Amino acid sequence: MKHSLLLAALATLLLTYPSRIALAQVSTTSTSVSSPAQFLGYKLGDRFTPHHRLIAYAEQVARQLPGRVKLIPYGQTHEGRQLMVVVVASEANLARLEEIRTNNLKRTGLLEGTPTPAPQPPIAWLSYNVHGNEAVSSEAFMEVLYRLTNTSDTLSRKILNTTVVLLDPGLNPDGHDRYVNWYNQMLGANPDPTPAAREHSEPWPGGRYTHYLFDPNRDWAWQTQENTQQRMVLYQQWMPQLHADFHEMGAESAYYFAPSAKPYHQDITPYQRQFQQTIGQYSSRAFDKNGWLYYTRERYDLFYPSYGDTYPTYNGAIGMTFEQGGGGRAGLAFQKDDGDTLTLRQRIDHHYTSGIATLESVADRPAEIVKEFGQFFDKARNTPIGAYKSYVIKANGDAGRIRALQQLLDRNKISYGYAGKAQTAAGAFNYSTQKTEKNMAVAAEDMVISAYQPKSTLLKILFEPNSALEDSATYDITAWSLPYAYGLQTYGLTTRLNPVNDAPTPPVAPVAPANAYAYLIRWQSLPAVKTLTALMKQNVRVRVAEKPFEVEGKSYPYGTLIVTRTGNEHFGDRLGALVNQTATANGAAYTPVKTGFVTTGSDFGSGSVSGLRAPKVGLVTGEGTPPPSAGEVWHFFDQTLNYPITLLDGSTLGNLAWTKLDVLILPSNFNYSRILPEKTLTALREWIRAGGKLIAMERAASFLAGKDGFDLKEKSGDGDKADKVRRSNVADSLRVYADRERSALSDETPGSIYRVNMDTTHPLGFGLTGGYYSLVLNAYNFDFLKDGWNVGYLKNDNYVAGFSGKNVKGKLKNTLLMGVQTMGRGSVVYLADDPLFRGFWYNGQLLFSNAVFMVN
Ligand SMILES: [Zn+2]
Repeated sequence: MKHSLLLAALATLLLTYPSRIALAQVSTTSTSVSSPAQFLGYKLGDRFTPHHRLIAYAEQVARQLPGRVKLIPYGQTHEGRQLMVVVVASEANLARLEEIRTNNLKRTGLLEGTPTPAPQPPIAWLSYNVHGNEAVSSEAFMEVLYRLTNTSDTLSRKILNTTVVLLDPGLNPDGHDRYVNWYNQMLGANPDPTPAAREHSEPWPGGRYTHYLFDPNRDWAWQTQENTQQRMVLYQQWMPQLHADFHEMGAESAYYFAPSAKPYHQDITPYQRQFQQTIGQYSSRAFDKNGWLYYTRERYDLFYPSYGDTYPTYNGAIGMTFEQGGGGRAGLAFQKDDGDTLTLRQRIDHHYTSGIATLESVADRPAEIVKEFGQFFDKARNTPIGAYKSYVIKANGDAGRIRALQQLLDRNKISYGYAGKAQTAAGAFNYSTQKTEKNMAVAAEDMVISAYQPKSTLLKILFEPNSALEDSATYDITAWSLPYAYGLQTYGLTTRLNPVNDAPTPPVAPVAPANAYAYLIRWQSLPAVKTLTALMKQNVRVRVAEKPFEVEGKSYPYGTLIVTRTGNEHFGDRLGALVNQTATANGAAYTPVKTGFVTTGSDFGSGSVSGLRAPKVGLVTGEGTPPPSAGEVWHFFDQTLNYPITLLDGSTLGNLAWTKLDVLILPSNFNYSRILPEKTLTALREWIRAGGKLIAMERAASFLAGKDGFDLKEKSGDGDKADKVRRSNVADSLRVYADRERSALSDETPGSIYRVNMDTTHPLGFGLTGGYYSLVLNAYNFDFLKDGWNVGYLKNDNYVAGFSGKNVKGKLKNTLLMGVQTMGRGSVVYLADDPLFRGFWYNGQLLFSNAVFMVN
């Protein structure tokens, strides 16, 4: 069937594209490139191909056609799988590939210099299989690659003569192979299309996510994940004019391509909007010809900036998503509700066809695309969009927090500098108060970001205090403003302020005298946390000041870490060097002091200065947990803190040796009623009373609310309403974590920002003195704790940004978000939201660290 389709398509193409194609640039001799079937030993669609075989096929093609195919390896996954991009171009273009790349960058302004006068072909980048179990994509990659290498094919010649094509065979090979290996183990002699067959039910955690169970298609802007970081280095070097992202959705759905659904972000340009239509025209023409079903303008919008379609769009490109019906559930064959059987072969045909149609749309107007792209960056540099033409950010003595933001800006190629001299800015929007200040004092050392730069559109969108929604029914978070995420005092200026490049002279790091009485580290942001965990791992005894104090003329806030010689005698004279080396390696400042005799506050020997113990931490994972809810915690401990965490399967909690744990983290999970039956709950309570610390997040907190011994309650008097909220919460989370499915719920808060009333004198609030803004994903409607500590809560008017449904706004008033209950010798920390959500809410990492290390 496929064969005749191809022939028919070829005949049409030959009619559509007669001799006007310039043939001089490519050789017309037939190549001896192996087809996927010849190389793999089976026809595409007969089985799923593991990642290393995809790579091997690309390598084979590159060997057979070195003049037109080039491989660019760009990294390795956590599990050791190769990441690479396959470049396909005409011989002439491949020979001058580096010139094309640098010329393109020079036109954006991201690289200095004048481009050579040679014509610039557009760069089209096609990304496959970002979600590992949407495994058809990588199969389609092989077919697209093979088609493009066929020089006797008119359309392929046309594409390569006009366009440089970059193909990424698989963005998430760890997830892909998790799915493929599992599926192949389930498979008998023939695929079983019966929906109930076990080959259609992936076990937890499924192949969608990365090794650390992150959703890689929510990470384009934040780049918290190693796979993304490695890929984005390459992306910033190429800056394509077009990026297409290939996905799958539910097996009952047909096929989706652009134009996207509303809302579009308001800053998407007219040309980018128009090209959404163009993609629709080219794709629909190809699908109509084959009689295939599809839909457009529904479900997949262009708003949240960290997707494979929006991120490229905010970087000047034409970005789009393709969605095939199928996914992990579909296997090789799947019987749909209408009785038809969906096969892998059909899914490959669809993705292959839309990929080629996309490249054709570029090949038909290369000069126009390059010109529009150039204009996007001209405008970005000279007349940037948005009300704010510069941003001023105060370090407030916390270099670690500033450095974290700078790292994110570096990864996105957003440039920044410093004010250089003290001055006054008129009309500065203060992010904290959300008011405009007439005169704002800029200090020389303040960080300054000017909007007059190539990446100003991305800058504007990542910093906008409130993102305007055209339509409230978006399926993902609707607010992400970086000043709130990082908890940094930020001002938006309507005037231009040119930064100077030189960083203010950094304070000279103290040389730790070996005989200091103690070493002090302010508890401010992640560098302090990392220093603490690194010291703990080296068996250094660390104390914490539960109150502010002043010593040797300097004041120190709540939560300051104190490393005294006493208690660390076994290090002898090496203690100073050890603290120096550990703090410096983790980017934290520290101060040696000669005395523990404070001028205000408590002396270091006081009962208010308590010793911290390196806790043994466990995390519940497994069936029922949205994989990212567990993955975010796992990744934070493993990769950010480099501190051990034991992953437990929820189903084994009944047999757990509780005494071996100090801290147990319960992430969101749908199955708590099953994994915490009364008997296990009793063991859990006994463990807490004996000194254990339980951290209950989101649905875990909701599950414990009202249970015997747990003080948390859902607000009384609205039993029915509370039930409704609970049900809508379930649906909310399905919408957030499922593959871009969105619900039609009216009472939702799809990730909006609220200013939290924070008790920063409580250990859970230590270091959050600059204000804490929470990304609120659920409206749990918890009552204030009667006996415990209401550390973070919302009063009447805490809404800041993002979409919050009318009903939800009411529930997010006078409600508890973070609380601590003492139970016997132990404690329970309730977190209604996930401070580690997608790993990008920087300030949340400090809050979560407080829960683990500070709360006693
Ligand atoms: Zn997907």
